[in-house]
Amino acid sequence: MSLDPRRAAAWQAMGLGPEWVQRGPAAAAPAPGFSDRAAAIAAMNWEQLESAVAACTACALCRTRTHTVFGVGSRTAPWMLVGEAPGAEEDARGEPFVGQAGKLLDNMLAAVGRSRAVDAPQPVFIANVLKCRPPGNRNPQPEEVAACEPFLLRQIELLRPRLLLVTGRFAAHSVLHTDAPVGALRGRVHRLCLGGAEIPAVVTYHPAYLLRNLADKAKVWADLCLALDADGLSAAG
Ligand code: URA
Repeated sequence: MSLDPRRAAAWQAMGLGPEWVQRGPAAAAPAPGFSDRAAAIAAMNWEQLESAVAACTACALCRTRTHTVFGVGSRTAPWMLVGEAPGAEEDARGEPFVGQAGKLLDNMLAAVGRSRAVDAPQPVFIANVLKCRPPGNRNPQPEEVAACEPFLLRQIELLRPRLLLVTGRFAAHSVLHTDAPVGALRGRVHRLCLGGAEIPAVVTYHPAYLLRNLADKAKVWADLCLALDADGLSAAG
């Protein structure tokens, strides 16, 4: 896929240095290892995907979850935010980011005029890398991320957001297929190539990290401003 030259010039003028990440199967030739399960998920519509997540037994987290947490927000939202995994409150309610970190996240989104509310003027769809809670809020394991990844990729593909806001290292590693730290990934615009779409992606710190490191608030604000700029270009392009 080639980069639209007008967009490339605009990105370059802003010094944003777009970085390309190709995800999902290439249209002509599915990547080796692209399983039947992943192929089936990649063909689902929203309703089928939500049902498949609710019934998923692809990893051991299905044995300890109370609810799966599919995601929340408008399915035509121009922004999509990706978090890590449900915690205890999210597992109990079946909705992402409803605990302390969620309150901070809602404030962060409100600061740039966005909201998870379906009928908000600028809605954001919120989903996690993992749809089930890791027991004791431990870190997601690689096999859990791998099992859940087709769901997240399909959500991104179905939504085709104008902008992806990627919070924290697990989301960044899963979406951008890198193991770089958040500090090295933030401050520039990445571009995800998925299902024929080019989606600008901005990485920032996870709200739970921010609760513990308030000094990094200014960096998150800068990332949100970068997201606004990138979205402006994306909408104009
Ligand atoms: N942290 C996340 O990454 N996601 C949630 O849904 C809750 C906390």
